Amino acid sequence: MGRVLITGGAGFIGSHLADRLLDEGHEVIALDNLSTGHPRNIAHLMGNDRFRFLKYDVTDYVHVEGPLDTIFHLASLPSPVDYLRMPIPTLKVGALGTHKALGLARAKGASLLLASTSEVYGDPEVHPQPEDYWGNVNPVGPRGVYDESKRFAEAMTMAYHRDQDLPTYICRIFNTYGPRMRADDGRVVTNFVAQALRGEPLTVYDDGGRTRSFCFVSDLVDGMMKLVQSGYHDPVNLGNPIEMTILEFARRVVELTGSKSKIDFVKPQDERTQDDPKTRRPDITKARQVLGWEPEVDLETGLNKTIDYFRELLAKGKEGGAA
Ligand code: UDP
Repeated sequence: MGRVLITGGAGFIGSHLADRLLDEGHEVIALDNLSTGHPRNIAHLMGNDRFRFLKYDVTDYVHVEGPLDTIFHLASLPSPVDYLRMPIPTLKVGALGTHKALGLARAKGASLLLASTSEVYGDPEVHPQPEDYWGNVNPVGPRGVYDESKRFAEAMTMAYHRDQDLPTYICRIFNTYGPRMRADDGRVVTNFVAQALRGEPLTVYDDGGRTRSFCFVSDLVDGMMKLVQSGYHDPVNLGNPIEMTILEFARRVVELTGSKSKIDFVKPQDERTQDDPKTRRPDITKARQVLGWEPEVDLETGLNKTIDYFRELLAKGKEGGAA
């Protein structure tokens, strides 16, 4: 892969990907505007002479000195609370940011991997979701800003592939968790783990009957590495097919943290649960066949690592907010 650019390189997934690429001997340039990424995620890489960080917004014109072999375009606002708070930057990074990243890839003769999302399936009417399902998205609902930005990003990526012969890759990432998420990012994993560690009630929305399938970050990074070397250019789901209800997940977090927290059923009065997908689970047949990939880290192992990270973060009095 040689010289690699990661947009969103100081984020949760981007920083783990940087670790992995550096471990394998590549040179990494991480680009991030630090709107939700954090310098602490890459602080340990700062002395590495194969690593460079550029504080930069990929929505603006991107200039990178020297050659590039691969671009991982991860910059995004994937947490519902973030994209509901910052709808226009969300649309801009998916549309303009993807355009800039693709233009840069073309100029450098680099391949590009787009980090897309299971949200392209919206509130799915097909279960589990295979890649050839076109989805059920409300374009004008509050989640539409994220879903449509990624759908547009996929369309733009395929256009560069077909029209410009650019070697592009698209992974549709399902719920992923692990160390370096922000304690205040509002997602279910971080909310529940932080609440359990503080001894506060876990906020299960509505009746907790919606389902999700949780993939540990190292498995995801593994899948991305395989995809970008696969020569397979259609979208591929990357996620863990083990599905559970949010209530089951809350009980698991309480058990693994050893917390005395109780579970509260709450009805958010804002937009948080509007169009919230009722079920979500990846069909990973394609990833198995094309990449020989499937998740290996079980929920208990992954959650224990995540809980250890947050225990330390909260003990230092850091809430994990944006830089
Ligand atoms: N959720 C919840 N309590 C919380 C945060 C989230 O019950 O404190 C629910 C949310 O309504 C959704 C699921 O957990 O059904 C996953 O939410 P998350 O924000 O993690 O990501 P999503 O999968 O919706 O993008």
